[in-house]
Amino acid sequence: MAAFGHLAVAFTAGRVIDRPRPLGWMALFSALSMLPDVDVIAFVFRVPYEHPLGHRGATHSIAFAVLCGVAALLVRRDRRLALFTTAVVLTHPLLDMLTDGGLGCALFWPISNERLFWPVQPLPVAPIGHGMFSRRGLYVVIVEVLAFLPLVVFAFWPRRSARS
Ligand SMILES: [Zn+2]
Repeated sequence: MAAFGHLAVAFTAGRVIDRPRPLGWMALFSALSMLPDVDVIAFVFRVPYEHPLGHRGATHSIAFAVLCGVAALLVRRDRRLALFTTAVVLTHPLLDMLTDGGLGCALFWPISNERLFWPVQPLPVAPIGHGMFSRRGLYVVIVEVLAFLPLVVFAFWPRRSARS
């Protein structure tokens, strides 16, 4: 999946957490929403795609999302932030599972390395690396923008300021 869908979820989480300076929270959640794709470094080290440490493996699991939430709890001692962290990281594989290509996500790693998709995959899979700068990459971005635009509009819709 290209980044737009993941970022749309992050922006929405930043709006929903309802704290001062939502742009800072949106930036933090944006980084967290993309964190599972740190596993693309596996391609550099020639780790096979289907390996548990390959792309869409361990970092695309429920366990990884919970681990990130626990890390947030230990660092900030804030249960709400830990919950949002877990949810934002977990949305990444759940959205990737809606794409129509590559391998699915190892959602239940380390119990199982089976790669899973949802029963329907309406989103086109993004080409990896330089492939994004192609007609296929442009098509993927357009589909994601159309699919996730409502979340972005919600996230950035102006708020009424509270009267004192
Ligand atoms: Zn991913």
